[in-house]
Parts: sequence; C-alpha cells; structure tokens
Amino acid sequence: MQQSTHVDLVRFSAVSSTESKEILAPILAVSRHRLALDGNGVVTLVAFMGCPLRCEYCLNDFCHNMDRVPRRVTVQQLIDEVMIDNLYFLATDGGITFGGGEPLLQSRFIESFCQSCDTRWNITLETSLNVPLEHLERVFPHVNNYIIDIKDMNREIYEKYTQLSQNNLLTNLGWLMSKPDISSKVTVRLPHIPSYNAQEDVDRSREILAEMGVVNFDEFNYIVRKK
Ligand code: SF4
Repeated sequence: MQQSTHVDLVRFSAVSSTESKEILAPILAVSRHRLALDGNGVVTLVAFMGCPLRCEYCLNDFCHNMDRVPRRVTVQQLIDEVMIDNLYFLATDGGITFGGGEPLLQSRFIESFCQSCDTRWNITLETSLNVPLEHLERVFPHVNNYIIDIKDMNREIYEKYTQLSQNNLLTNLGWLMSKPDISSKVTVRLPHIPSYNAQEDVDRSREILAEMGVVNFDEFNYIVRKK
C-alpha cells in the first residue's frame, strides 16, 4: 500500500504551463512569520504531505497518510494565501520555504508557483533529496537556497534509519554540488540520531560532504518522541 502510493507520488511527466496551474498540491500546513528557522528573513513555510522515507523518529509522521490530506490547493490559491506577507518578504529578503514531507515530490507545483510568484521572493527548499533527479532538475532554476536533511552519509546507517535506498540522494547531491557557485546556497543538516549513529559517524559524514564542496553545516541532536 505504501509502496504504490510512493510510486504515484514520484511519477514524473511533462505538462503545459496551463495544465500545471491546475495542479493540486496536498498541503500539510502553511506556517507564517517564521524568523531564522527555515531561511532568510521572514518566511512562510509551506509543508506538503507525502514522503518516500520512513524515518524512525519522524516528527511529521502524519504526512505519510495520503488518505487523510488536510487540504489541496492550486498554485493560484497558494499564491493568494501567502501574498498577505509580501511586504515582509520584500523588506527582509524573505520568502517561501517549501518543506514537508518531501517537497520535491511536488516539483511541478513548485515550478509553476515560482513562475507565477514575485521573483524577488527567496525560495528555499527543505529536502531529503531522495527522489528521482528529474524533480530536482525541474525546480533548480527557481530555488535560491537548499536545506538538506542528509541523515548520515554511511549507507548502512542511512538505509536502516530511513528504510530507503541512499542511491537517489547520492545522485542528486553529486549533481547539485557540481553546479557553479552552489556552496553558499546549501546547508546540510547533520543529525545525531539516537541508537543509529555516533559522533565519529557524524564527523565522517561532515568530511565526505566537505570533500564534495559543502561548507555550511547544521549539526544537532534529534528530538525523540515517545510513541
Ligand atoms: S524525511 Fe522528514 S518527513 Fe520524511 S520520514 Fe524522514 S523525518 Fe519524516
């Protein structure tokens, strides 16, 4: 059941811009006035339902239940909703952060949103990067900053914790870091994951990532919620 939902979510097909404006995105939450949490300036976080990973300590476990999507919106409906903070965005160099769930599963929606919104808004993507490369290629021209939830670069740790292959993440990260002048736009989150990794694993991940050109890291401890 979960697998077929995932396949539906990641299906990729070209559509015209007219059609794409009719895309309905499954919204988990829209959170306004976030400062210094998810990007530059004043930010509105748009969190989507759906994620291919199954992290043991996921704080947004609800995002996996595609049978209970709180609401779906068109691109224009979302632009109308977030426009209320336009002056804050422009005054603080802020904008929209797409998160989730996994926002790259909504790449067509994000592309269409960015083609329609004020181009002065800063667009940030909070992503695990674990989707087919086509999704990243599609939004890349529009995204100003990336916050990448890397989990751990050790394949065994990663796959045990997320229950998903690391392959797409490695492909996408290599592709992204090969782009010119990308380092300053990328922040990688390096979590300490209880029962999964230790300080030496986190240090090793940091070394591997630094060799790839990553310079901004956010090392932190996971909050473990009792189930
Ligand atoms: S990537 Fe994020 S939303 Fe997806 S399962 Fe992991 S913690 Fe949850």
